[in-house]
Amino acid sequence: MNGIHPDIDRVLISSEEISRRVAELGAQITHDFQGEDLLLVCILKGAFLFMADLARAIDLPLQTGFIAVSSYGHSTQSSGVVRIMKDLDQEVEGRNVLIVEDIVDTGLTLSYIAGLLTGRHPKTLKLCTLSNKPQCRKKDVPIDYCGFVLPDEFVVGYGLDFRDFYRNLPYIGVLKPHLYKDSTP
Ligand code: 5GP
Repeated sequence: MNGIHPDIDRVLISSEEISRRVAELGAQITHDFQGEDLLLVCILKGAFLFMADLARAIDLPLQTGFIAVSSYGHSTQSSGVVRIMKDLDQEVEGRNVLIVEDIVDTGLTLSYIAGLLTGRHPKTLKLCTLSNKPQCRKKDVPIDYCGFVLPDEFVVGYGLDFRDFYRNLPYIGVLKPHLYKDSTP
């Protein structure tokens, strides 16, 4: 991909920084779960690129699962309502489960999913997020692995979307505000 997309105000995290950090997270997770196996649970759709790279940076017996939720509709604001659109295919009971998320903003999505999976009695349940906007939190969630802390701005790229676009940008950038300021949910 050449240059910066014209809808991007500025790049916050380059693709090189992302690669470096994903490798570090993979090494840390490999170390922490030594001798164990792991079920990575991708929260669709936003985490699909991150999880694909993270899985390849983890050197453990590993399985992958996918769960799809809908929380924002087409808005850039959290509605607080989380719906499961597609549930996991795997059993969680007795497994080491690592939830992989793209971004934690209000915390509502992740705390809902963590609660749901805790109820299925995993051996361990940990949370890994590519990015975190801690200043936006409405619900506290214990994050075990975090790629980047971001300012309170609407970002896209590397899996993160606006209206399902921009997921394919190889970097994380701030979307020009005029593109979403007047959008309705
Ligand atoms: P939360 O429930 O923590 O408020 O929101 C989590 C979900 O909201 C994320 O999985 C993501 O889909 C979406 N989200 C929150 N902040 C942003 C953002 O800055 N950019 C994009 N593209 N999505 C966001």
